[in-house]
Formats: sequence, structure tokens, C-alpha cells
Amino acid sequence: MTSDGSARRPGRQSGPVIDLHAHSTVSDGTESPTVLVEAATAAGIDVLALTDHDTVGGWEEATRAARRTGLTLVPGIEISCAVGGVSIHLLGYLTDPDDPALMAELAHARESRATRLARMVARMAADGIPVTYEQVLAQVAPGATAGRPHIADALIANGTIRHRDEAFEVWLAEDSPYYVSHHAPHPVRGVELVRAAGGVPVLAHPFTLTRSRGADEALVEQMYAAGLVGLEAFHRDHGPEQIARAEALAERFGLLLTGSSDYHGAGKLNRLGEHTTDPEVLDAIERASSGVTTIVRP
Ligand code: AMP
Ligand code: ZN
Ligand code: FE
Ligand code: FE
Repeated sequence: MTSDGSARRPGRQSGPVIDLHAHSTVSDGTESPTVLVEAATAAGIDVLALTDHDTVGGWEEATRAARRTGLTLVPGIEISCAVGGVSIHLLGYLTDPDDPALMAELAHARESRATRLARMVARMAADGIPVTYEQVLAQVAPGATAGRPHIADALIANGTIRHRDEAFEVWLAEDSPYYVSHHAPHPVRGVELVRAAGGVPVLAHPFTLTRSRGADEALVEQMYAAGLVGLEAFHRDHGPEQIARAEALAERFGLLLTGSSDYHGAGKLNRLGEHTTDPEVLDAIERASSGVTTIVRP
């Protein structure tokens, strides 16, 4: 990483461009895994991790597309965890997609996410906000993980708003009266599940400026004790202070530091490759995995 903690962008480095966090329509991204892989290849990304929320459902399609375009693909997930009402996102790289405990946990989360969206929509509709659960479901691809962005998409489709941000500002935030939580494991349990599935846990945007409170040092220490491998330091939601906190923890515990875009297609401003990960860090992630799931190389 650069010593000033600034973002590394394509063109500012000579090695491969590695972006370890991106979403597709298999969760709340707006591009299918195929289109996402094609967009990443066209954007000059060499290595992309597909990390849909609470699902491995996009891996096969992304693998086929990556073999076709020559992109290197890291199969991943982003698990929505929670502690004391605070949402904590955990990236898991190279997990076994057949691990029963992890897959059961993700299936439980996806089911509870659907029920929770129905409850949020009912509260919103009761208050006169023009949205129905049918309209929301129409925005969720078959089998995909449903999330709050799909409520925003329904409101865009019916002409109420123009961008997801508007819905999050007014109705969808965690402190909104319409907010309903969903089943989410404690982040320490998340780390244990990823490790037991042979994968590599990395805490996503740990000190995020834009969402609730994020993690704190004590939680990172607990997660480290359970097997946490890295922190996603270089991310749009982090400023210099957040990066410095991540660097201090990395030093203290010997954690890896990653960087990534958290790309959601048209759903967010984040652009592919806007933050990247050093090749040595990716090598260390690969070495830390069990080898059951491997990086897809052309
Ligand atoms: P959920 O998974 O249902 O809790 O929704 C959280 C997801 O919504 C996050 O992972 C982001 O992908 C997305 N999100 C959060 N804030 C915004 C925003 N302001 N604009 C667009 N998407 C957002
Ligand atoms: Zn998302
Ligand atoms: Fe996240
Ligand atoms: Fe994400």
C-alpha cells in the first residue's frame, strides 16, 4: 500500500490491478455476473473477487465468463453479520461452497432477509409511501439475496425517486422507523464459519464512515482471536483516520490490509478498481485458504 494511505488506481502501479470486492444481480449489484466480469475486464482489472451478500450463487456464471474474457476470478462472499444492532460486513474468500454449516447460515440469512423486506415495505406502505412487496420482488433476480437496495429499485421503477441514495437518505437507513433487521450471525461466528469452510475472512470496510458505527478495536481483537486474516482498509467509506486505525491494528495483530471498490454497478458511485490490493496480499490470502476452492486463472 502507499505510505500516505491514498488509493491506488489503475495506471498508478505496474503490477496487476486487483479488486477484491464486487456485487452482481445475485445480490444487490445491477449487473449480472457475466456483465460484471466483462465490465471488469474492459476496465483493465486483472483480478476481481465476486463477493455477493450472503450467497455463492453467482460463482458458476462468473467463472464461465472469466474463463472467456481472461480475467482472474476470486470466488468470495460478503456475510452480513451484526453485533448489538450494528451491522458488520465480513468478506470470505475461497470458502467451500458445499460446507454445510456455512451454507445453512447463509440460507437462513437469505430467508430472513425476504421476510424482513416484506415487513419494511408493509410499514412504508402503511405510511403512504407508494411501494408494494410485489414491486420489490420484481427487482430481485431469481434466487438472489434480497436487500434494502431492491426497495429503492422498486421506488425508482415506479418513478418515486431517481437514485438508490435518495431512498437510503429518507427511508431505508438503520435509524429509520421503517427499518427492520434480519437474521445475522455475530462477526466472531462469521469468522469461525469462514475458517471452518476453508476460507479466508477479511473484515469489510471496518470503520465505515457512512453506515452506523462500524467496528471497534475490541471487536477486531475478538475476531482476530477467532481467525480473522485481514482488514479492508482501502475503501471509499474510509478516510485517512479510518485507514490509520486499520494500519495500526494490522501492525498489532499481523493482519493483511486489502483494498477494493465494493462495486454495485449503477447502484452506487463506486467504480471498479478505485481501490486495489497488493499482489503479495492476494498471495497471502491464497496461502491462507484450504485449497478446496481455488482462484480461477485464465
Ligand atoms: P441490506 O443488505 O438490506 O442491509 O442493505 C445494505 C446494502 O445496501 C449495503 O450492503 C449496500 O450495498 C447498500 N447501500 C447502503 N447504503 C446505500 C446507499 N446510500 N445507496 C445505495 N446503496 C446503499
Ligand atoms: Zn451491497
Ligand atoms: Fe458491505
Ligand atoms: Fe459490499
